[in-house]
Amino acid sequence: MSAFIIEKLCYGCQRCVDACPSGAIRVFARVATVNSDKCIECEECIEVCMHGAITFREDMEVTQRND
Ligand code: SF4
Ligand code: SF4
Repeated sequence: MSAFIIEKLCYGCQRCVDACPSGAIRVFARVATVNSDKCIECEECIEVCMHGAITFREDMEVTQRND
């Protein structure tokens, strides 16, 4: 399990990139992505995201896009 970006809520502000201690997050085309191999599940990114765009995969079923 690792952090998961809800793409439609992400503004590409990079606050999570700066906060992540393991370099697991990158922003491409104004949407953040998490490298699950690097994520240490510290939840720092969730703390700093002002848009509620980060969660953990357990929550995916209720938050993911269906398109
Ligand atoms: S902090 Fe939130 S809105 Fe900003 S890039 Fe990260 S996930 Fe997207
Ligand atoms: S939970 Fe921690 S290690 Fe994982 S992406 Fe967020 S800030 Fe980085």
